[in-house]
Amino acid sequence: MSLNFNLLTLFPDMFPGMLGHSLAGRAHERGDWAFNAIDIRDFATDNHKTVDDTPYGGGAGMVMRADVIESALLSVEKPGRKIYLSPRGKVFNQTLAKELSQEENITLLCGRYEGIDHRVLEAHEFEEISIGDYVLSGGEPAALIMMDACIRLLPGVMGNVDTADNESFGANTGGLLEYPHYTRPAEWTASNGKTYDVPEVLRGGNHADIDKWREEKSLKVTKAVRPDLL
Ligand code: SAM
Repeated sequence: MSLNFNLLTLFPDMFPGMLGHSLAGRAHERGDWAFNAIDIRDFATDNHKTVDDTPYGGGAGMVMRADVIESALLSVEKPGRKIYLSPRGKVFNQTLAKELSQEENITLLCGRYEGIDHRVLEAHEFEEISIGDYVLSGGEPAALIMMDACIRLLPGVMGNVDTADNESFGANTGGLLEYPHYTRPAEWTASNGKTYDVPEVLRGGNHADIDKWREEKSLKVTKAVRPDLL
C-alpha cells in the first residue's frame, strides 16, 4: 500500500522540494508514497486567471475564492482525507502523523494571502491542521513538513522498525522527549578549549544501567523544556 498526497496549491513547483532527497526521496522512487500537485490557478474561469478577491466585511489582504478551489478539489479522483493547512487548526503532532501515515489518500489544501473562503471548507468538510503557533506566508511549507513526518513512518522507510517508537514523542519514550545522543570520539575537545566526555554509563555496556540513565535524561529534559508532555 502506498500513501498518495493530492496537493491543492498555487505553487505546484514547490513539490516534492526537500522530499525529493534522502529517506523520503528514496521512498518516493520505490513508490512508497506519491504526490499529485494540482495548480489551483488552472481552475480560474476568467481571462486573468483570478483566484482571489477582496474580503467581505473589509480588512487587509485577499481571500482565495471558494468556487475556484472547489473546481480544483473536484478534479481529484480520490481525495481521501481532506485537510486545510491553517494556523487556526488543531496542532499537528506525532500521534496525528502516525494516524495520517495509515491513510491511502490525503488532500492537502495550501492557502495563500489571508486564507480561504470559509464556505468551501465547510461544504467539503476539510479538517484544519496547523503546524504550530506562528503564521507562514503559505500552506506549502506546512504541507511539506506534515508529509515528511508521515512518510518516515511508512513501513520500510526507516531502516529499523523500532526507530520511531524510540524517538521523542514515541511509545517507548512514554511520549516524552528523547535522551541526548553521543558518538565517537569518547573524548572531544571543542574550539572553546574544553574537553567533553561521553557519559561513563554509555561506555560501560550495561544495558539496564543505560536504559535507566536514558529514562532519567528523558524525564529531565521534558520537565525542563516541555512540562506539558508529562
Ligand atoms: N490570515 C490567516 C490567519 O491569521 O490565520 C493567515 C494566512 S497565512 C498568511 C496564508 C496561508 O498560510 C494560510 O492560508 C495557511 O494555508 C498557511 N499557514 C500559515 N501559517 C500556518 C500554520 N501555522 N500552519 C499551517 N498552515 C499555515
